[in-house]
Amino acid sequence: MGKLKNLFVVASEKTEAIHGRKTCCVCGETKPIKGFPLRKDSPDKHTYYCRTCGNAMSRKSYKLHRRQRIAETVLWNKLHPEQYRTNLKKYQSKPETKEKIRPKQRIYSALYRIRHREVYLKNHREQQRRYRKKHLV
Ligand SMILES: [Zn+2]
Repeated sequence: MGKLKNLFVVASEKTEAIHGRKTCCVCGETKPIKGFPLRKDSPDKHTYYCRTCGNAMSRKSYKLHRRQRIAETVLWNKLHPEQYRTNLKKYQSKPETKEKIRPKQRIYSALYRIRHREVYLKNHREQQRRYRKKHLV
């Protein structure tokens, strides 16, 4: 019976996928197929849960394993420094990101200028010299 039921579920999922709708196995709601993330190894190429449930599960999982996730990310960034720099630049160049991180950057810059006064002044003077050489000669 269990096998037959599974077959029925798969068949009905496929039919719904053809008609552009699918039922979420978590919340039980039938939604348009666009509301289901892509999954290559699934018969209908979409996940069994909807985007809303998927996001909720991700958030819950992140809260549970936050420290480990951060540690994994830090490790990956150290192992792939060039890729990390490229990704970071891409992320920071987005207009919405710029808006979001600007206040934090201002605080960070101010703290840097205080904490590393000597290094900051040396770099600043060098920068000024380069600017003058390029624009004022
Ligand atoms: Zn759902």
